[in-house]
Amino acid sequence: MILVMNVGATNEEIQKTAQQIETWGHTTNIARGDIQTVIGIIGDKSDLLGKPLAALPGVMKVLEVSSSYKRVSRQFHPKDTIVDVNGVKLGGGHKCVIAGPCSVDTEEYTLQIAKAVKKAGATMLRGGAFKPRTSPYAFQGHGEDGLKILDTARKETGLPIVTELMSLDQVDVVYKYADVIQIGARNMQNFNLLKEIGKLGKPVILKNGIASKAEEHLMSAEYIMAGGLNDVILCLRGVRTYENAFRNCLDVALVTYLQKESHLPVIVDSSHSVGKREYVMPVAYAGMAIGADGLILEVHPNPSCALSDGEQALLPRDFEYLMENLKKITPWNQREWKELDKKPL
Ligand code: PEP
Ligand code: MN
Repeated sequence: MILVMNVGATNEEIQKTAQQIETWGHTTNIARGDIQTVIGIIGDKSDLLGKPLAALPGVMKVLEVSSSYKRVSRQFHPKDTIVDVNGVKLGGGHKCVIAGPCSVDTEEYTLQIAKAVKKAGATMLRGGAFKPRTSPYAFQGHGEDGLKILDTARKETGLPIVTELMSLDQVDVVYKYADVIQIGARNMQNFNLLKEIGKLGKPVILKNGIASKAEEHLMSAEYIMAGGLNDVILCLRGVRTYENAFRNCLDVALVTYLQKESHLPVIVDSSHSVGKREYVMPVAYAGMAIGADGLILEVHPNPSCALSDGEQALLPRDFEYLMENLKKITPWNQREWKELDKKPL
């Protein structure tokens, strides 16, 4: 971490600032330039994060050299994390496709969907039993009954279950049934929830927030990992922008950004990113082509009767078509490309 001092900062200000850092237990290194002075702070600075560094005498700005999301960062863990969900691997070259209804539907529909997505090659089943809905009058999910339906679908197909956890009071019931816990966009910064699930054992898919920056997404993953959990999967589901052609707006370049910044697997939610059926497949394709570790998307055989998000559900036959097409993709390989840097021109 580096403190850049104001042009013309006085000797007294420089000394006072350096002394303050030292009373907080850190070594400093003062480098005086012709125009400006910088104070380097040496060693682990995690305890300085909450300190008012920018308010110290004569400080112009504070520069972070190493990232503040240590557990999440690739700087400190160069190897890809591989998450293993009952034998289904994700990350480090293992690709996964999670598919299913937005909300867990009737047992009949849910089983029909589970079997169809399994047949087409999905590796996990999604379905929300507790639904975060904008309107309090909209369908809120089947609750525990929905989780029981997912359990039946898991028994029938062998697919691990991904389902959303919305609040602390649902932890016991959701953990009883889920294989992977989904934290939705609205809860990306529900820090108490993140702290709690970090202490529990199951893998977590952390979606980005509705108006979040990549750094905030990574910091939220850090909250979970600070509790001790390593199996965190980052999920991009788009953010709200001025563009209103889609429900949300996905920046696919963030797949590469997150994979570069972090060792955690990165998946793309191509359903919520666009909100309309006709765009789901192209965006899923783009996500895998840029090198995502997987996809999560919504499938329903009768979208007009789906309990939520019917307008963005793929039909099972569309999903099958997508899965066939995904086989043709050679994903962009960041590592191979970076090798070019080492070759002479
Ligand atoms: C969902 O997966 O159905 C969902 C509610 O997603 P998000 O949190 O991304 O809106
Ligand atoms: Mn949905």
